[in-house]
Amino acid sequence: MLAIINATLVMHDHYIPDATLLCDGGKIVDFGKELAIPEGAEILDAEGQYVGPGLIDIHTHAQGTYWFYEDAATASRIALEHGVTTVLPVVYFNMNKEDFIGATRAIQKVVAEGDFPNFGGFYMEGPYMNPKFGADRESNPWQAPADPADYLDIIRTAGKDAKVWALAPERENIRDFMLACKEENPTVVFTVGHSEATAEQVEELMPLGLRIGTHHTNATGTLPYMDVLRAPCVDEAVNYNDGLWAELICDSRGIHVDPYMLRTVRRIKGRDRIMLISDACVFGGPIPDGYEGVTDLCFDFAGEIAGSKLTLDVACRNMMVHTGASIADVFAYASYNPAQAVGLEDVGEIRRGNVANLVICDRKVNIKKVILKGEIAK
Ligand SMILES: [Zn+2]
Repeated sequence: MLAIINATLVMHDHYIPDATLLCDGGKIVDFGKELAIPEGAEILDAEGQYVGPGLIDIHTHAQGTYWFYEDAATASRIALEHGVTTVLPVVYFNMNKEDFIGATRAIQKVVAEGDFPNFGGFYMEGPYMNPKFGADRESNPWQAPADPADYLDIIRTAGKDAKVWALAPERENIRDFMLACKEENPTVVFTVGHSEATAEQVEELMPLGLRIGTHHTNATGTLPYMDVLRAPCVDEAVNYNDGLWAELICDSRGIHVDPYMLRTVRRIKGRDRIMLISDACVFGGPIPDGYEGVTDLCFDFAGEIAGSKLTLDVACRNMMVHTGASIADVFAYASYNPAQAVGLEDVGEIRRGNVANLVICDRKVNIKKVILKGEIAK
């Protein structure tokens, strides 16, 4: 039994100050004011700071200087120290079939060995994205129409671990690919990204389980309309449809998504449909002029932005600065909403019976303590 005392609990839509929270058997068993502390309980004093649900990063390739497919144990540990109690590591479309399968197996092996305790399943970013948008434009190995001979082995290797498949709706035979994914894991969720689909092409796939816009406003196309006007495209479909959650990469300079755009998306999508992701990568390109001192952006050797060096706690802090979001808001964006979008049923919220994944943080989301499945992990 673990008793967290003097907590300001961050609930989905309110706070409970001066609260106690009890964990036992890896679960949240009770919380509230004036709660009796059972004899023999281990006491953790939150000293009035915020206690919220553990953060959930559904889209990240790496943490620190470690790719998940190369060193999942270290990458997952870094995420955990930054309050991320559920991670969906990404396997990415720059890999060919053999490497895709190899990366998936390498991460599964670390999970099986018990060295990736915050694993929440895979976010498969590919293989069928639009080669025009994203890294490896020239060398993308997945230019041919979707073909079972190419994708079935990947789908079967990922199995039920694949929680999310990202795709470009305009790719040929994409429906067959989606049905094959669903056959392997009926609860799988699809996202639209690295795409120049029309809004209609996006909406047509929603009944099949398309629910998320991958790094919203990044790596999407703008179809020309009457030569000079911008036609509705992926971003508009994600903004327009309540049934679609929007991932946001929120860096300190507002480079991935301009602060004005962040505020716009926040107003359009509302509190329940925004998810913060880190999309962290380890491309080791030098920092271009004008970006000196920036610690949460990642560049490739062409000087292009290639993902971030974010951790999710920092993304929360950036979101508060850029948009005026509250602590409760950013916990919704970085825990409750991703759990809802991906269908993780017993995390993302302080609720009796939920897994006791918790963080203690100050008002700037500096992570002081991390509790994973009822155990103090940091
Ligand atoms: Zn991407």
